[in-house]
Amino acid sequence: MKFQDTQSMDERLELMSALSKSFLFRAAKIDEEGAFPYENISELKTSGYTSLTIPKRYGGEEISLYDLVRFQEYIARGDGATALSIGWHMGIIKDLGEKNNWNESIFRMLCEDVKNGALINNCASEPQTGSPTRGGKPTTTAVKQDGFWLINGRKTYTTMSPVLDYFNVTATIPESNKVAYFLISRSTQGVEIEETWDSIAMKGTGSHDLILNNVKVKEENLVEYFEPGKKGASGWLLHIPACYLGIAQAAANHAIEFAKSYSPNSIKGTISDFPNVQQKIGEMELELIRARHFLYSVAKQWDLSAKDERNQMNPELGAVKLSVTNSAITIVDLAMRIVGASSLSKKNLLQQYYRDVRAGLHNPPMDDMTILLLAKNAINRSVD
Ligand SMILES: Cc1cc2nc3c(=O)[nH]c(=O)nc-3n(C[C@H](O)[C@H](O)[C@H](O)COP(=O)(O)OP(=O)(O)OC[C@H]3O[C@@H](n4cnc5c(N)ncnc54)[C@H](O)[C@@H]3O)c2cc1C
Repeated sequence: MKFQDTQSMDERLELMSALSKSFLFRAAKIDEEGAFPYENISELKTSGYTSLTIPKRYGGEEISLYDLVRFQEYIARGDGATALSIGWHMGIIKDLGEKNNWNESIFRMLCEDVKNGALINNCASEPQTGSPTRGGKPTTTAVKQDGFWLINGRKTYTTMSPVLDYFNVTATIPESNKVAYFLISRSTQGVEIEETWDSIAMKGTGSHDLILNNVKVKEENLVEYFEPGKKGASGWLLHIPACYLGIAQAAANHAIEFAKSYSPNSIKGTISDFPNVQQKIGEMELELIRARHFLYSVAKQWDLSAKDERNQMNPELGAVKLSVTNSAITIVDLAMRIVGASSLSKKNLLQQYYRDVRAGLHNPPMDDMTILLLAKNAINRSVD
């Protein structure tokens, strides 16, 4: 069944839940081998999911941010790496449709390709810049030559690199000192992936290095100028906390199932009968409720807001990311305390969740930047 054939959100969540169950089935092997989840991505494409954020004006469904984060959370319950990977693609198409900054014909062409299964990601990080959100200028360069752009550089953390069809690459134009995004198709000569991804967290994201060696693209492939570190509010980045919330929910489910079935011979019944275990289950539940309400209420607020109101939402968006990601780390920790030493076994998914949720700290925006933003906002707010 395809998402496009479903009648209601319940039916869609049922479909995503079924997909997520097969992702869960494959998760441990993919993590252990450090492999890329080709099958998961292929199933998401076949289900029609990867085109759901295309704007209505180009024949898509333009699903809301609220719906997107719900789907993303479900994917992450099965496999966090698959969720983070496809989340970039889904969010970028949603963001481009909402902001409408690109040349119409090139975005229309991209949307047509996405309908046929094409995937895109932003490639902004470099060893020299660290996180691009801090304002570092790309060392990747784009030089105009005979009516074409010649692009050279190296990008790190190119999530989903094994299957991307489009790389949306940031580069500095030395002659004007401006910075822009360039849309580069995988088949362009000089595009190469170097398999550098050796992280212990989110192993299945295939976040390798992208190498651009005299890559020649047309003038119109400069799709958007921007100022480093000064991008507007980005609701679509809520796919990140949604991912870590999904992993946390999976960890909590795992621990509760364990508590309901584990019966060492020192007791009658199971450990779920005991206050020390119930305390931790209650604490996990509290974190989950808090994280879920915060994430989904801000997503809904985004959907209901006009463009200028959305531009004021950076503090809330950052606060959600910080709060949910840190809650996810706490929840996985509590889940492992419930299960005990066997949570550290290689065969136990909890040890994978433990590694995976840590990656959330290093996805944008970073916690220290959010806290500073909140502080500045509070200081500058006029008190009645
Ligand atoms: C799983 C995963 C997937 C990712 N996918 C993508 C992707 O698809 N595309 C992409 O472009 N990127 C991606 N990234 C990269 C990510 O967005 C960051 O660029 C990357 O994680 C580096 O961030 P960092 O905070 O470790 O690095 P840095 O910015 O180098 O920070 C390292 C340390 O230095 C400090 N620091 C650095 N600069 C400053 C400063 N100016 N002021 C104060 N403190 C500073 C930080 O606080 C931190 O403690 C991904 C990362 C991960 C983990």
